[in-house]
Formats: sequence, structure tokens, C-alpha cells
Amino acid sequence: MSKNIRRREALVYHAKPQPGKIKIVPTKRYSTQRDLALAYSPGVAEPCLEIAKDKDNAYKYTTKGNLVAVITNGTAVLGLGDIGPEASKPVMEGKGLLFKIFSDIDGIDIELDTKDIDTFVQTVKTIAPTFGGINLEDIKAPEAFEIERRLKEELDIPVMHDDQHGTAIISAAALLNALELAEKEIESVKIVISGAGAAAVSCTRLYKAFGASASNIVMLDSKGVIRKDRPGLSKEKLEFATDRKIDTLDEAMVDCDVFIGLSIADIVSVEMLKSMAANPIVFAMANPDPEIDYQLAMDAREDIIMATGRSDHPNQVNNVLGFPFIFRGALDVRATKINEEMKMAAVKSLAALAKEAVPEQVNIAYGETKLNFGRDYIIPKPFDPRLIARVPPAVAKAAMESGVAKAPIEDWMKYEEELLQ
Ligand code: NAP
Ligand code: MG
Repeated sequence: MSKNIRRREALVYHAKPQPGKIKIVPTKRYSTQRDLALAYSPGVAEPCLEIAKDKDNAYKYTTKGNLVAVITNGTAVLGLGDIGPEASKPVMEGKGLLFKIFSDIDGIDIELDTKDIDTFVQTVKTIAPTFGGINLEDIKAPEAFEIERRLKEELDIPVMHDDQHGTAIISAAALLNALELAEKEIESVKIVISGAGAAAVSCTRLYKAFGASASNIVMLDSKGVIRKDRPGLSKEKLEFATDRKIDTLDEAMVDCDVFIGLSIADIVSVEMLKSMAANPIVFAMANPDPEIDYQLAMDAREDIIMATGRSDHPNQVNNVLGFPFIFRGALDVRATKINEEMKMAAVKSLAALAKEAVPEQVNIAYGETKLNFGRDYIIPKPFDPRLIARVPPAVAKAAMESGVAKAPIEDWMKYEEELLQ
């Protein structure tokens, strides 16, 4: 398919039969005068009064509990960069579509025309009563860190910056399984992280929560290895700075067990791959083109375990495995936040699911004869129908156990049945 046809197809897809990808439809009867008197005045006053008495009744009488705002300012959109709020809208609507089809959450996009942290935070706080959760999206680092930190602190609904935590969760699940296949322990592996942006920082934090040792980690940014003695490091970069006296990716890759790429295309060479330890784990996740071409890497070493951000290769680290199910679990117990425990529970349930026998319908959906836990299948596929019954309950349980669930679930069988409907 030529690039031109693809471009036209994508534009027509978005323009026809009506512009955009989502719409609002009523969920109640509306055919008679009586229905309208219930839906609007005077009937509507009754739920208003109930909610005025107790704000939590908004979850009972309105869409709040199933409504997530996908909020951006358009400063770091896909690999396109700072393209502004209007231009980011197709991406945010796309996220709404994914929320809907994977976990039946209504995700509504909100594009803010500001680059100022205070204005952004204040705006989201002001509109927060409408929503059950906030998915922050495609906001440039380092602003994204502070925006998320402040909103998590100041709001009592789940807030998650998906570019940071989604990637962290999916790649951590893939990493745990890859380590198992490589017969290595997370505590002792040497890890090189290329990139020090929103995704890299939060991935590395999560790998540490699973046991990766700070002294085994080398992180690089556009200037090379982030050393403790480099002047002017940001707070986040200082957190992962190394004592080792090395400067380049070539040096860092020698004998390392795990390469995590969250930077830019084509910066890893075949020679670098060959200098890595046995059974190297290479997650080259720069989008749209990875740090090293998939085929080049596969041809360079037989013992490699490789993942990318792309759908045309095995082991795609795709955020859609995370956010729909994490928010589903969080909303269903009315969690006040998405905390470390909930993220780690999502990681474990994704990792565990990849080790189970794959249903035939998943093989068919992906045109595979037999997906089996191994080098070419370390994380579940997005269209796996078991995800919705596995990940949200794991997240919901973790929310309850960590004390952030305002509406705990009692009947888990019933909950899982509801999820599958
Ligand atoms: P970001 O916040 O803009 O960070 C990009 C980072 O890459 C910066 O720290 C930058 O260094 C660094 N960098 C640039 N050139 C480099 C080089 N030659 N060597 C090493 N590091 C270099 O972006 P992000 O949101 O973290 O995303 C980073 C990449 O990961 C993008 O390609 C994105 O598409 C990809 N990604 C993939 C997935 C996925 O597969 N699911 C998810 C999220 C992100 P400075 O700090 O010096 O500028
Ligand atoms: Mg994003």
C-alpha cells in the first residue's frame, strides 16, 4: 500500500460519514412527554437534590463514574511533537474510541490551549467534578511530571499520565517475562535505558519497584550517559545518574543484559547488540521507528528477546493493554487514585496472562497458527478477550488492599461476569 493511499484512507476514515470518531448517545427513554419530564425539568431536580446532600450520589445518578477525561495541551503528540491542542484532537478522540471498545468507559477528549503548568492544573481541577477519572495524554516532559504530581495530590479521583505509566506497566510485564525466559533475575541484571523523558523515567521507576538495582542502571539522554558529575541535571535525571565513568551508548552496552529504548530511531548498531551479554533483552520502543530495526536485530543474534512499539512485529508494547483496564478497575471500586500497588497488580496480571494457553480466537485475530509463551510472545495481544476479566479485578483488588477504594467490591464472581458482558 503506497503512502499516498494510506494517507487518503486515514483522512477519509476521519472525515466520513461524519467528522471525528466518537459521539454521545442517550441511555434513557426519551419518546414521550413523560420521559422528557423525567430526563429534564421537573424530574431532574430529584437527583440534583440527592447529589447536593451527598456528592458521592453523583456516581449513582450521573455518568460521572464511567466518564474519563482524556486531557492534553498538544505539546508531545505521538512522535509529532508540539503540534498544538486542535491538531492533537484526533489522537485524543482515538483514545476515547479505545476506552469504549476495550472497557466500555466513556472517554471524552479535552484539549487545553495552555503551556503554563499552573493554568493547566487549575483548569483540570475546575472541571474535575464532571469526571470519574483523568487520563493525561501527550504532554511534554518535564511539565508532565509536575502536572501529574500536583493533580494526583489535589484531586480525589484517579489521575494517570498514560505516556508515563501505561508504557511502564506494559513494558514491565514484558520485562518480567523476558527475564524468566532468559533465566535472569531482575535484581542482578545490567540495564541500559536510552532516553530520559516521560516514558523512560517512569519505566525505570517501575522496574526499580520490581527489584532492579539503581547501581546496575545506566541512563542516556541526547547528550550521552547521564553521569552524576554532569552539571545542571534535572531532578529526574539525577535520580538515575550513574557513578560509572563512561559517556557513550557503545560503552554502556558492553555486557549489559537489558536495553530499554525510549528515545529515537536507529541509534543502536549491530556491533552494540553483539557486545551485550548472552540472551539479551532488547526493547526498542521509539515510535514509529525503533532504536534498531527489528529484522536487523533478529538477524544479528539468535538469542535475542526483542520487543518494539510496532504492531507489525511480535511483542508490541502497546498502551492499549493497560489504560482501558486500569481505569476500569479503578472506577469500579471508586479508587481515589491510581497508586503503585495498582500499577504493579496490572503488571503481574498481564505477565501471568501471557503464560496461559492462548484461546483460538486470539490466534485467528492475529493470523497466527499458535501463539505460545516464548521469545515471540511475552505479552498478551490487545484483542485477547480475557484481558477485561483479568486486569480490572487485579487492579480493583490492589486498590482495596492499599486502602484507596471508596466502593469495595464484595462479589468477585458477579463482578467478573459483569465485565464480560
Ligand atoms: P520525551 O519525553 O520527549 O523524551 C525523549 C528522550 O529521548 C529525551 O530524554 C531525550 O534526551 C532522549 N533522546 C533524544 N535523542 C537521544 C539519543 N540520541 N540518545 C539517547 N536519548 C535521546 O519522549 P517520551 O514520551 O519519553 O518518548 C520517547 C520515545 O519513546 C518516543 O519515540 C516515543 O514514541 C516512544 N514511546 C513508545 C511507547 C511504546 O512503545 N508503547 C510509549 C511511550 C513512548 P534529552 O532529555 O536530552 O532531550
Ligand atoms: Mg500518548
